[in-house]
Amino acid sequence: MEKILNAIFLGWNSAAECLWDTWSKASRSPRVVGILGPVDEGLLFRTAHSPRVFSSWKEVKESAAIDLVLDFEGRATVPLKELPPGTILIPKEVTDLMGELCTVAQEGVKYKGVVETARDAVVTIDESHRIVFFNKAAEEMFGYSKEEVMGQDLSIIIPRPHKDRHREYVRRYVETRRGKFIDHTVDLTAERRCGEEFPISISFSVAELGGHLLMTAMMRDMSEVKAMERKLLQNERLASIGRALSFVTHEVKNPLVVIGGFARSLLRESGLSHGQREKLEIIAGEVKRLEGLLEEIQDFSKPLRLNRERLHLGPFLEGEISILRDSEICREVRVDVSVEGDPVVRADREKLRQVLVNLIKNSLEAMEKRGNILVKAAQGSEGHVEITVEDDGKGIPEDKVEDLFQPFFTTKPGGTGLGLPLCRKIVGDHGGDMTMRPRPGGGTIVTIRLPLEEEGEEDPPREVPSR
Ligand code: ADP
Ligand code: MG
Repeated sequence: MEKILNAIFLGWNSAAECLWDTWSKASRSPRVVGILGPVDEGLLFRTAHSPRVFSSWKEVKESAAIDLVLDFEGRATVPLKELPPGTILIPKEVTDLMGELCTVAQEGVKYKGVVETARDAVVTIDESHRIVFFNKAAEEMFGYSKEEVMGQDLSIIIPRPHKDRHREYVRRYVETRRGKFIDHTVDLTAERRCGEEFPISISFSVAELGGHLLMTAMMRDMSEVKAMERKLLQNERLASIGRALSFVTHEVKNPLVVIGGFARSLLRESGLSHGQREKLEIIAGEVKRLEGLLEEIQDFSKPLRLNRERLHLGPFLEGEISILRDSEICREVRVDVSVEGDPVVRADREKLRQVLVNLIKNSLEAMEKRGNILVKAAQGSEGHVEITVEDDGKGIPEDKVEDLFQPFFTTKPGGTGLGLPLCRKIVGDHGGDMTMRPRPGGGTIVTIRLPLEEEGEEDPPREVPSR
């Protein structure tokens, strides 16, 4: 019996810990011998006196003197060759406690269910760094099936630079029983099967049984949370930049208007020398350029107030593009429009125009005013329309895409770097989003995703593009 009392379970996790607790209480001393894993994997069961994984049911039976087997519903089963995972083994001496254990076994079903279906990934390793438990959430998070990872070294889910460090950490913990991460939650990176690294929040716990350690990690995928944090931080940064900018632009704009006004009125006077006229023209020109810059900064820094209306994208885009086509800047550029169906959005016409003009301007600048631009509107993911602006200009490097949306990021001598962040802000305030990617074959594609207007609302008279 002593031999049996020291049995330990492989595949330990925090829910099993509760389960063990229940068993101990129910039977006053641990009379349950083990929980079997799938038999064909090698039995996930061992005793302190036989510290090895048994390879057959027969071995277990002989070694642990078991003659009764309960399945998770608490029904007695005969010891078949292929026992279902989670089967409970009861030693001979305690068969009279079967009734009691049936209840416990049912508890077991409950706890097993909790861990199996937990949102968090639960992974348990033994002292030799091998995985002995891997729940459903872990399968989904890491992309491995339970069968693939059982018995494997944990390093398959640890990114390269930390693999050895972790093994060393576990080895040291087994030796000293001291570790600073145990019972704490820390932020780390893990690796999916496809090689993608992602942030996780992880808490560790250790169970010591029969002199053996089983270490369990509960992990939560933090990718979405981190992305959200980054977005919030960016919004906060934008807001504080905005406040500073609106103060500065206000202070600079007034004197600038005065300087420009004086320069222009002096230019109208007769009797100026050629040199004087030239200098005044430079002053007036520079002031005009700075006023344009301030205007852009003000647009960017002031809070957006949307004046939304039902907007049929087809006529809107056609109208706006035809105005642009006629303008001087588009002389050597072909701009096409293609609209699928009749998408309707609730949008601020002026603001959307501002987005379109900014994007076309960027495209023109990227292609040095010669090339092709295609503006398309088509059904996107459910309930959304996708507007794309495609050019065959010099393109953008894939890994720099997010930088381009940072305020003041520009690669142009006279650029402000505010066009794209402003566009993203406008689109975001419409409940949409905006992304950029290189166009296969050269150039850039900007995609704007906007929620479609619900059908059935009253349609006002057809819109005629203004301007
Ligand atoms: P600006 O136009 O004042 O530089 P933007 O925010 O509009 O500021 O754009 C930021 C940067 O993104 C540009 O300087 C340019 O390097 C890049 N960019 C934007 N649109 C395109 C495009 N269509 N093709 C290539 N690069 C682009
Ligand atoms: Mg721009």
